[in-house]
Amino acid sequence: NTKQAERKRRTGRAESVKRRAGRSGREPVSVVTGAAGFLGSHLTDYLLAQGHRVIGIDNLITGNVANIEHLAGEPRFRFICQDVTEYLFLAGPVDYVWHFASPASPADYLNFPIQTLKVGSLGTHKALGLARHKGARFLLASTSEVYGDPEVHPQSEDYWGHVNPIGPRGCYDESKRFAEALTMAYQREHGLETRIVRIFNTYGPRMRLNDGRVVPNFIVQALKGRPLTVYGDGSQTRSFCYVSDLIEGVYRLMMSDYGLPVNLGNPTELTVLQFAREILRLTGSRSRIVFKPLPQDDPRQRRPDITRARKLLGWEPRVPLEEGLVRTIEDFRRRL
Ligand code: NAD
Ligand code: UDP
Repeated sequence: NTKQAERKRRTGRAESVKRRAGRSGREPVSVVTGAAGFLGSHLTDYLLAQGHRVIGIDNLITGNVANIEHLAGEPRFRFICQDVTEYLFLAGPVDYVWHFASPASPADYLNFPIQTLKVGSLGTHKALGLARHKGARFLLASTSEVYGDPEVHPQSEDYWGHVNPIGPRGCYDESKRFAEALTMAYQREHGLETRIVRIFNTYGPRMRLNDGRVVPNFIVQALKGRPLTVYGDGSQTRSFCYVSDLIEGVYRLMMSDYGLPVNLGNPTELTVLQFAREILRLTGSRSRIVFKPLPQDDPRQRRPDITRARKLLGWEPRVPLEEGLVRTIEDFRRRL
């Protein structure tokens, strides 16, 4: 049947990327867009540890070279400061393209709505074009925001979402939905090997102190003895995944032969108010909690259904929230 044929074709091509890199006796070459960002920099470290050469591309709109400065002098790493919506010229072979460039914090994409739409559309087009030109495999960093303010709970990959296209978050949600559609079109029309990961709230060391997301906000507020700003009544829920777990899952997905979206995140769900109390407990802070207006279209509840990742990738998160937060708080203390 067509599904089997499609799978066979994809699997056949999947092997070809690995075989080609292996046959030539050289290290696999990865391009990471958004390499100076939070996730992109952790992914870069992981790939280097796996023996890849890495070319990082970033225009530093929300990233920071401090995230990759420890790689200065690393012969297998090269950094190109460039906007990925511009044409990407790269000499030599590329085996994997990991497309992570995009503002990701609600505060950031509210500040840069047009840049966000451009990197998800034009930037994804350029990154896909690069992968096609090089015969590389492509992975899109998509998001749980494609589900919008979800009407089903927990969210599985089959859910099509509940997104307000013209609301303030629409610039991000729709750019990622477009990016997914474009990725699938390249897979179907050009036979490109593609992967889509839908990432749920992920946290860890190197998050920008002032990126406006709940994890940096609460930790910085707690460490500085300022009030923790809970938006709304704090009954909305999120599920937080530690960065090392996420990166491990992303790598496994790229190396798998699965061409449809896969959720990655930690299914441990808590309310934002519970989360604020947890940060107070772990920092030992005596900050108060204050309530601020809930931003428009803020999703009421979010928890990944990770059945697919468990089955296909044998993956599930291993770092408990407390342990991940302790490591993250240490990193924030050092940087403050
Ligand atoms: P981040 O802001 O730390 O990193 C994004 C990086 O992309 C930054 O370094 C930024 O400068 C770069 N960038 C943005 N636009 C660019 C452009 N036009 N050209 C070149 N570089 C550009 O955010 P992050 O948390 O590391 O997120 C990385 C990716 O993962 C994003 O695509 C995001 O949508 C996705 N994601 C993250 C989470 C999360 O919880 N961290 C959740 C879902 C999806
Ligand atoms: N939030 C909060 N206080 C803050 C920052 C965020 O209560 O100082 C809430 C926000 O309204 C949302 C949740 O925390 O319900 C997670 O927000 P974040 O910006 O981290 O990412 P989101 O999951 O909304 O993309």
